[in-house]
Amino acid sequence: MPDPLDDYRRKRNFAATPEPAPGLPLRRTDDLFVVHRHEARSLHYDLRLEHDGVLKSWAVPRGFSYDPADKRLAVRTEDHPLEYEHFHGRIPKGQYGAGTMQIWDRGRYRLLRTDRWADAMQQGELKLLLFGRHLRGEWHLVRTQQAKNSWLLFKSRDRYAGIARDRALGINLDAARDQPVPLDVQPMRWQAEAAPVSMRDPDWLFEMEFLGLRTLAHRTEAGSRLLGVDATPPSIAAGLTALRCEQALVDGVLVALDARGHPSPTLLQQALQQRAEPPLAYYAFDLLQWEDYDLRPLSLLERKAALRTLVPDGQPVLFVDHVAGAGEALLAAIAGAGLPAAIGKRASSRYVSGASADWRRIPVAATTTPAATHHGAAPPPEREPRWKPSNLGKVYWPAEGYTKGDLLAYYHAVAEALLPHLRDRPVHLNRFPDGIDGKSFYQREVKDGAPDWLRTVPIPHDGSTVPHHVIDDLDALLHVVNLGSIDLHPWLSRTASLDQPDWAVLDLDPKQAPFAHVIRIARSAGRLLRGIGLRPLLKTSGKSGMHIFVPLRSGYGYDHARMFLEAVSRVLLREVGDVATIERSPEKRDGKVYLDFLQNRRSQTIVPPYAVRPVGGASVSAPLLWDELEAADLSPRQFTIRTMPARLQRHGDLFRNALDDRQDLQPAILLLEELLRGR
Ligand code: MN
Repeated sequence: MPDPLDDYRRKRNFAATPEPAPGLPLRRTDDLFVVHRHEARSLHYDLRLEHDGVLKSWAVPRGFSYDPADKRLAVRTEDHPLEYEHFHGRIPKGQYGAGTMQIWDRGRYRLLRTDRWADAMQQGELKLLLFGRHLRGEWHLVRTQQAKNSWLLFKSRDRYAGIARDRALGINLDAARDQPVPLDVQPMRWQAEAAPVSMRDPDWLFEMEFLGLRTLAHRTEAGSRLLGVDATPPSIAAGLTALRCEQALVDGVLVALDARGHPSPTLLQQALQQRAEPPLAYYAFDLLQWEDYDLRPLSLLERKAALRTLVPDGQPVLFVDHVAGAGEALLAAIAGAGLPAAIGKRASSRYVSGASADWRRIPVAATTTPAATHHGAAPPPEREPRWKPSNLGKVYWPAEGYTKGDLLAYYHAVAEALLPHLRDRPVHLNRFPDGIDGKSFYQREVKDGAPDWLRTVPIPHDGSTVPHHVIDDLDALLHVVNLGSIDLHPWLSRTASLDQPDWAVLDLDPKQAPFAHVIRIARSAGRLLRGIGLRPLLKTSGKSGMHIFVPLRSGYGYDHARMFLEAVSRVLLREVGDVATIERSPEKRDGKVYLDFLQNRRSQTIVPPYAVRPVGGASVSAPLLWDELEAADLSPRQFTIRTMPARLQRHGDLFRNALDDRQDLQPAILLLEELLRGR
């Protein structure tokens, strides 16, 4: 009988590769799976299932997707030895599979509906139940007729199914402990005596405080319930059971709503004594446990991102959203809604039991000032817009026939995702009152005759001050679009900290260079930045370039961001110098892509995600998942005012972390210096 590992052996030279040579066959349990992230010539993921003493393997070029409609190619590859379960490292150049191999996920699996591998393989259909950190629930592997080893991998419609993310929770679970949280855990509380925190501190998140019963909630397959409540109301138990997981421990507040939809502690008492049946809601704001993992060591930001993924829409269990570093607008909205306070929480904080200085209560009365209520208050519903649309039928894109009305409708559709990226920043306008082929002008200064409700910020300039627009809400956004602003140009910093950018931005500017070169450089830049411990974000510029963002912790100046990205660019040139340049003069760039780090300067701007560009096709700046760089047909022109609203529905705001995931450059700079010195 042929040894199933012959192929594996034949392809490798064990004197040159660190990969394990097959040892004696180990008797195992046939229930292990492991996924390697393999950055070889092209990035792919290797799914390996333990069976019959070996790891059956499939290479999945585009990775995994929790969207059941997203069927991913999976190419059956040679069986690997069981020792490969633990292998990670660098396979040297010239060897088979040269590149880096990382363990991306590992866990147990079960075959569903048939217990016999041989049958399933013969039928060409494996139904798998996976219990990993990233891969959870039911997955299908189905052989196709296309080519010899070609299979499709896709998610089944189960409670984990959802959008096209590649991991169940959408976050990195490395720091989570593999053990459940005890149910008698004491909840975290705000500290009364702690010093006040600035409502503009970007290291803090601000949430609404709800009037109701603070209680932990436990979701299990055996029955979901509120801890500390004698009889969990059935609507809430059902809402917990609808969470996209099998087990969870959630922190939140149970609220009863009166006829006007306002929280009523009196009604809540009556409901808990089963003397009244008002509508109930459980406002979930933290996640302590997911499946068998204790998430308390993770940052609040990661826990909230995970919780957001678990909570389906339209249930009595609701996700409590937050604002980051813009507490005043929230406080004004809270005051407007007649609620007492906001809760400030440090974004990087772990979940600890008892009172902590990382949580502060901020009463409305103590901080409300005319300035704080002046802007950003939640508008009362069904109010007339404060701006008047004009010339809606004017054609802005002659080739496509798109009108100004289409442009306004697009911005209205994406406003919820776009506005957080614009809020509280000076904005320069680029106005095209007659569409993309007409004359245009760049406008920094707010002109006389601007409506008095529009927020402006005075910016010192050459001994005087220049008022700039600030776009905090839908009215302000649609007002400036109605003026003919097709794209928008916000600063990298906010009004209260004009010298401190929120992001370090690397602009890949190709001019005439092919987009394939931009893609290659972006891949390289992503690898490098991740390699020095950062979590960069990527978007198309909407024209032919790409923007890479690293969100910064507070305290960094523009010089820091610029010098850091200059060093990054210089390291990058070693790998992609044939297609990239840092030459400032366009004539001397030889058709190469310009790595523009000089945009990291006060008063420089960058178009935000979802901004429309004044070019043919009405393309827009589109946030991308890094793995989307691997798609063969990626084109910046596929993201337009026609296609982006549906994409946003499908993925959510992929750029949300630009606001939330603020990063420390210091450890990255040290690693970068080593790279600069080392090679
Ligand atoms: Mn591979």
